[in-house]
Amino acid sequence: MSDCLFCKMVSGEIQPDTVYEDDDVLAFRDINAQAPTHVLVVPKRHISTINDLNSDDAELVGKMYLAAKQVAADDGIAEDGFRTVMNCNAGAGQSVFHIHLHVLGGRRMQWPPG
Ligand code: 5GP
Ligand code: ZN
Repeated sequence: MSDCLFCKMVSGEIQPDTVYEDDDVLAFRDINAQAPTHVLVVPKRHISTINDLNSDDAELVGKMYLAAKQVAADDGIAEDGFRTVMNCNAGAGQSVFHIHLHVLGGRRMQWPPG
């Protein structure tokens, strides 16, 4: 997707503050951090929303969570606790239509989220 912001980060056209990368996923710090740790984990392959996932993507989504676990450990927030969020479509607040897992931590989280 040539006009997709996160695809441009995967291709290197835009260089984010990368904290983790492997063959399938890229993780980088959110430009508008909502917590001391706010990282976005994205698949390297373009998928627009959760609604576009199919059964072939199950392993990839699992890898996104394993990357989130690694990011939390590396930032020292794994034991205290952290939150993962994936918004789906505008009504839930999705603004970039390439799926991404928010990893938030380093401060006390409230529940329920707004
Ligand atoms: P969403 O609202 O789709 O769940 O999350 C999109 C996230 O992407 C937001 O938290 C926003 O701050 C982040 N974001 C938007 N543009 C950029 C950018 O250019 N660089 C980085 N690192 N994050 C971005
Ligand atoms: Zn994309």
